Amino acid sequence: SGATPMLEVDRVSAGYGAVQALSEVSLHVDPGEIVTLIGANGAGKSTLLMTVCGAPRPRGGRILLAGEDITGQPTHAIMRRGVAQSPEGRRIFPRMTVQENLLMGAEALVKGDPAPQMEQAFALFPRLKERLSQRGGTLSGGEQQMLAIGRALMSKPRLLLLDEPSLGLAPLVVKQIFDAIRLLNQQTGLTVLLVEQNANLALRLAHRGYVLVNGRITMEGPGRALLARPEIRDAYLGGG
Ligand code: ATP
Repeated sequence: SGATPMLEVDRVSAGYGAVQALSEVSLHVDPGEIVTLIGANGAGKSTLLMTVCGAPRPRGGRILLAGEDITGQPTHAIMRRGVAQSPEGRRIFPRMTVQENLLMGAEALVKGDPAPQMEQAFALFPRLKERLSQRGGTLSGGEQQMLAIGRALMSKPRLLLLDEPSLGLAPLVVKQIFDAIRLLNQQTGLTVLLVEQNANLALRLAHRGYVLVNGRITMEGPGRALLARPEIRDAYLGGG
């Protein structure tokens, strides 16, 4: 693979106090790829995304964005370089309206006008346009997830990080959200790193996947190839 990866995580270790959450994790996401990181509760998936965003800082290893070393940079600097995250649990602002929430996401927009980005979010999730003046906290869970992704898109990112977009949502809503991510990737070539406990859906959506166990990568490969492996089926798909 000759092209420079959009994201390269090179032997990164990270943790919290005495907790070692990531141990020499290496992975890459090529431009235009959807890559998923799957793993059980507490495997370190969220920590990996947060480390890419600058907090916690890596204890070892390097992180490169489009070939540039961003290791140890503060979060706002990493956002300005084109990384956006839709965090676990969505973390929208409950008292702000949909429109205000979206505009908060445009803060890291380096130049110009948030209107085209807002139109992109509406095209992806028409529901957001219908609910523009509704407060975030009164949206349904699925609508809040749409808003969190829409807000992340407002900064016009080169790399979108999604932490468990399926969490707590009904299957039909999860399908809507995954379809939107696929469409976005196909239409705009946006590079996506997706963390999921829902291994089945995530591996179907992703071009490639990695399996994280206790802070270490144990397997990698094309999404559908991983899906076919018995050890994945047993561990993450209820043996089905
Ligand atoms: P889940 O799917 O449950 O969100 P995860 O794979 O995202 O899990 P992380 O949230 O990254 O896992 O957690 C990895 C490890 O780091 C866990 O042992 C967790 O308890 C620990 N951890 C996470 N955040 C902190 C923190 N702020 N302080 C201390 N330990 C933490």
